[in-house]
Amino acid sequence: MIDFSLTEEQKKTLELAREFTATEIRPVALEYDRDGTYPEEILKKAKELGLMYTNIPVEYGGSGMDHVTHYIVTEALNYECCAIGQMIGISHLGTGAILLGGTEEQKKRLLGRMTESYRSACFCLTEPGAGSDAGAIQTTAVRKGDRYVINGSKCYITNGKYADLLCLFATIDKSKGTRGICCFAIPRDTPGIQVGRVEDKMGHRALNVSELFFEDVEVGEENLIGEEGQGFKLAMMALDRGRVNVTSVCTGVAQKALDEALRWAKEREQFGEPIGNFQGIHFMLADMNALIMASRAMYLQVAWMLDQGIRCSTEAAAAKCFASDAAMKVTTDAVQIQAGSGYMKGSVVEKLMRDVKLTQIFEGTNQINRIVSGRGLLRERSILF
Ligand SMILES: Cc1cc2nc3c(=O)[nH]c(=O)nc-3n(C[C@H](O)[C@H](O)[C@H](O)COP(=O)(O)OP(=O)(O)OC[C@H]3O[C@@H](n4cnc5c(N)ncnc54)[C@H](O)[C@@H]3O)c2cc1C
Repeated sequence: MIDFSLTEEQKKTLELAREFTATEIRPVALEYDRDGTYPEEILKKAKELGLMYTNIPVEYGGSGMDHVTHYIVTEALNYECCAIGQMIGISHLGTGAILLGGTEEQKKRLLGRMTESYRSACFCLTEPGAGSDAGAIQTTAVRKGDRYVINGSKCYITNGKYADLLCLFATIDKSKGTRGICCFAIPRDTPGIQVGRVEDKMGHRALNVSELFFEDVEVGEENLIGEEGQGFKLAMMALDRGRVNVTSVCTGVAQKALDEALRWAKEREQFGEPIGNFQGIHFMLADMNALIMASRAMYLQVAWMLDQGIRCSTEAAAAKCFASDAAMKVTTDAVQIQAGSGYMKGSVVEKLMRDVKLTQIFEGTNQINRIVSGRGLLRERSILF
């Protein structure tokens, strides 16, 4: 039986997330966007309310939600501002590899410590010469007895300046390609980590993104996640989950854009009547809503697959492409419906349109995600039932 109704507990959690977004994020969304503010106080409150580490099991300090609930909450938290919403949820990607490949002892020690603070984690894969071609990373880890010494640099790292826990990918043997890549969990206070340029971005302006430099950073083997050479696989598995996350983020942003467009269509009058009376506007609104319905159904499907333990790389990549392209179209049409007023700085829909562009670029560009999804289909057809 297919059932979209929520349990009483899910309803309460969703209500909490919606109220938090309306009272804490909405009033500052435009101001934080203008100034590129790190949303420190909002993060503290989100953590206090259990809205920050929603995907992390209770025994490691999180709220222990299943994937379906976690992504429904993610949609709600990203409705008013996806930059702030994603700062709240960044541990989802930053801890993905640790949750998937870490031992019980590592999860308790590393995630237990991280969840005591609101500064969360970051995911350090991309380098200046290795974006889409993530397997070409040059950051090295050299084994010395029971320790590793790490040298290299990373770029475009979300929460790079603030994260307490860094999930870092480095190679122990470049000649092995992706099979030489290892995953390390590194506490921020480890000597040798330096923050470089903090990026000034088109959108997602309250999302902290920076360079990171690693100079003779030493970590013990107890901080190697999984086996040597398993890092690339763990990164890709973490990105599967990250792509579902992006799908729910896009759904939240697109819903906000549609709601703004609907409000305007009812209020704005031309030719002596509300523009919402015109069929040309109906067509746009109907298409926007259809794209949002499909995006929501996609993240719910893939979240359900994750909860059932079903492999979902093909579907997660497809959902991420669809929802980000959909949100780009929906936010662009919201600007179209608000026209001159929507195009101006300080309008909500102008911000949403700038914000959404990133979702077609990060967690693998949509070109790369189409490759992942297409190759996946050639291995195995994607049929839900
Ligand atoms: C704001 C922001 C936050 C980010 N946060 C993080 C983070 O937290 N952690 C992290 O590790 N990374 C992060 N990234 C990095 C992001 O994942 C990369 O930017 C992305 O993977 C693309 O890499 P690139 O920018 O180097 O583009 P490139 O790889 O140089 O790609 C340029 C263009 O070529 C296309 N292209 C490349 N290869 C192919 C191919 N084989 N077939 C078809 N087209 C291709 C791409 O789709 C793109 O259109 C972030 C990026 C941004 C902008």
